[in-house]
Amino acid sequence: MTENKMTLTVDAISINVGFTRSVVAAFVSQLNPTVEEVGDIKTAVSEAITNCVVHAYSNNGGQAQIKVAVKGKIVEIEIVDYGQGIDDVAKAMQPFFTSSYCEERSGMGFTVMQAMMDTLDVTSSLGVGTTVKMTKKITSSVEV
Ligand code: ATP
Ligand code: MG
Repeated sequence: MTENKMTLTVDAISINVGFTRSVVAAFVSQLNPTVEEVGDIKTAVSEAITNCVVHAYSNNGGQAQIKVAVKGKIVEIEIVDYGQGIDDVAKAMQPFFTSSYCEERSGMGFTVMQAMMDTLDVTSSLGVGTTVKMTKKITSSVEV
């Protein structure tokens, strides 16, 4: 099984959400995913990066790292920030939980990531940052 990895570091600002999801989509295209699979991955990445922008760094900018690994037909995506962290991860992951009720947030980001991907794992430390790991198996018959 061949492995292929990439890492991208970007400023966690809203203009880079679209950029990041396009980069990830381009990288996973080597697995010949379906349009739906790419769409799912792009949606999940958008949710995770948006969380870095609005929650980790409260729209004040900071660094986000995006690591993507292709292992056979499995795509592994890790999104790391060094922002404020999450006090109670289990609570934060519940559908409709949001810490920003006054803004346009619906508290569905983690729920969407879970629905789009096969696995989702969130680790966080207050004042240190958050890591979101997600995997998805691509159904195509093409292997790298
Ligand atoms: P939506 O994604 O629907 O716009 P939301 O961002 O509040 O709303 P989730 O993405 O599910 O909902 O996140 C739930 C909560 O977890 C957030 O409100 C925030 O408190 C916390 N959170 C998520 N990601 C991070 C992060 N990277 N750093 C700090 N807190 C986070
Ligand atoms: Mg969110």
